[in-house]
Amino acid sequence: MYNAKAYSVSSATSPFESTVIARRDPTEHDVQIEILFCGICHSDLHQARNEWSGMMPTVYPCVPGHEIVGRVTRVGSAVTKFKAGDLAAVGCLVDSDGTCPECKAGFEQFCPNMTLTYNFPDKHTGGVTYGGYSDSVVVNERFVLSVSKNLDLAGTAPLLCAGITTYSPMRHWGVTKGKKVGVVGLGGLGHMGVKFAHAFGAHTVVFTTSPNKKEDALRLGADEVVVSRNADEMAKHAGSFDFILDAVAAEHDINAYIQLLKRDGNITMVGAPEKPLSVSVFGLIFARRSFSGSLIGGIAETQEMLDFCGEHNITSDVEVIPIQKINEAYERLARSDVKYRFSIDMASLKSE
Ligand code: NAP
Ligand code: ZN
Repeated sequence: MYNAKAYSVSSATSPFESTVIARRDPTEHDVQIEILFCGICHSDLHQARNEWSGMMPTVYPCVPGHEIVGRVTRVGSAVTKFKAGDLAAVGCLVDSDGTCPECKAGFEQFCPNMTLTYNFPDKHTGGVTYGGYSDSVVVNERFVLSVSKNLDLAGTAPLLCAGITTYSPMRHWGVTKGKKVGVVGLGGLGHMGVKFAHAFGAHTVVFTTSPNKKEDALRLGADEVVVSRNADEMAKHAGSFDFILDAVAAEHDINAYIQLLKRDGNITMVGAPEKPLSVSVFGLIFARRSFSGSLIGGIAETQEMLDFCGEHNITSDVEVIPIQKINEAYERLARSDVKYRFSIDMASLKSE
């Protein structure tokens, strides 16, 4: 074991503080990574504040962070894909059994024995996993991804969660040229959803509660922007969408969006609000519409997404912060005041 610098919270109401955590020494299949940037996902906030206590209670101290980009510092003797000095990335998953039908089909995120990057039992240390708000991490090479050299690294980190979480359902539900696609909530996930829908050639409509994000939405690739609190603007789009991606982090009226789908249209939730949503079944049955969910993406698809971003020069729009500003960043994220992802410059941890 060795000591790594990190930032953790010690309870649902505590601020982040500088700390030291124990990481395992790389075993033969492990890659040790010096973390250069880590994005701040709203899931980090949900978990730091124990907002998902029903589904996945937070174990404290908690070190969040699952949008990790860095440089390989050491590899185990059996590692073949990486060597010291390579760029590398880690997302929400750090392990799975590799043998179940889900793993064999490339859906490690649905493996009953998967391990999330933080706040999950850690079979190596006997404690819980610690995430990317840290200067280094050790991960089995199966869960380490390659990053194109042409991409800006601060903007690449958020691809590891916000990127794959929006890319995967759009691929699954066939977002292509000729389709009308909605993205609800222009936050970290939503703005990546807009970039992908646009890159896939779809007619892309953003639904936002923030009129001041209109110009940004168009710049990011939207063809139209609807202020969702305006019922008249919403009504103009009734029955017209093939697919809608909902990336809202809070309670909201999903039925208003179900009404906007065509026959056989689908709305997929990737946002994970704390409380259950109320769904009108009539909205679904009258046009055979469907309502579904999606969780990040498998490892092969995450690499496919990163390669797609490399080819199309797609990164997240980030506000880079030193780790010392993290408490302020959380307050701003809670009130949707970020354009459009905070990315922590981990060099700032050196002074702690
Ligand atoms: P975020 O940056 O905070 O964005 C959420 C956006 O939702 C806000 O920017 C805002 O957009 C909109 N919004 C916020 N409060 C709202 C309200 N009361 N009513 C309507 N709209 C509201 O969060 P994020 O990092 O993108 O994450 C979004 C959600 O996805 C979180 O719940 C997160 O845990 C979840 N998530 C799920 C997965 C998965 O695998 N399924 C992966 C990552 C994250 P406007 O200002 O445009 O309205
Ligand atoms: Zn995330």
